[in-house]
Amino acid sequence: MFIEFETFRNRADKLRALMDKACRAAGRDPAEVTLMPVTKNHPAAAAAYVARYGLGAVAENRVQEAIEKRGAAPAALRWELIGHLQSNKAKLAATHFDRVQSVDSPKLAERLNRAAGELGKQLPILLQVNAGNDPAKFGAEPSETPHLLEIALAQPHLRVDGLMTIAPLGETPAETTAHARRTFSNLRKLRDELQARFRISLPELSMGMTGDFTEAIAEGSTMVRVGTALFGSRD
Ligand SMILES: *Cc1c(COP(=O)(O)O)cnc(C)c1O
Repeated sequence: MFIEFETFRNRADKLRALMDKACRAAGRDPAEVTLMPVTKNHPAAAAAYVARYGLGAVAENRVQEAIEKRGAAPAALRWELIGHLQSNKAKLAATHFDRVQSVDSPKLAERLNRAAGELGKQLPILLQVNAGNDPAKFGAEPSETPHLLEIALAQPHLRVDGLMTIAPLGETPAETTAHARRTFSNLRKLRDELQARFRISLPELSMGMTGDFTEAIAEGSTMVRVGTALFGSRD
């Protein structure tokens, strides 16, 4: 059985309070950090709860799962893709998502651009960077990111909003926290370098999940992607 809406509302209220506290501790305005609920592996009701609570968007990992749920969800809700995307699914992703956060290769950027052009739309994207140098994680290597950004900026049907990353887990909670700080600090510095080098604005820093959103907010996150703390474990 999936959780009741009241449970979701209580969890979301608590989470937002913790986010606001982390903002104040970092001397930041809470309005700068968006809560992005991650509904993957949960029923379509999860997306309906998000809309009823008053949030505007959800994030999903897999294209097919999102398409199935989106059909049953409130129409005003926006959907963002945060999972690895194969180039051959670019058309499907460009059709059904309002933003793709997981763009990690020039080839994928070119495929998404072509698809968005065919659909007559401009597709907002983030570049996913392996800022924690995790061998198991997807994302462009930091050293490859300037080239990826150059290619993405040259695509007329894409709009690059910023960067996204996932921090690697450690062997202990303390090690996980240290990895998170290092990863998020790396991403912010990389963003600052890219903004200066390309003379553009990359406002969005999508970083932080249930286990590390406090560290992410301290390092400048503008969007935390949270599943477990809102909907419970995915099994
Ligand atoms: C699943 C997922 C999340 C949410 O993780 P939780 O630990 O459940 O909050 C965030 N970002 C990405 C890319 C994910 O795949």
